Amino acid sequence: MQCVFCGGKVESRQVTFVYDYESEFFFVENVPAQVCTQCGEKFYSPEVTEHLIHLAKTRLKPTKVVKVPVFEYADPVLS
Ligand SMILES: [Zn+2]
Repeated sequence: MQCVFCGGKVESRQVTFVYDYESEFFFVENVPAQVCTQCGEKFYSPEVTEHLIHLAKTRLKPTKVVKVPVFEYADPVLS
């Protein structure tokens, strides 16, 4: 399989899917995906996409909850 964006080589990997929609935010770890070795674009099979949507809808018990520090790019680093 080739990357549809850059034509680069795509390989199977386990990735962390980041769900970020209207200030709702969560990760799904160890998601099987095809990742472009050139541009890093991730591709998910229809089955995987369906399961991710299912997880987003149902919000069953997460395996763990982590605190994520969020930074504002525009903030001055040192003032
Ligand atoms: Zn690519």
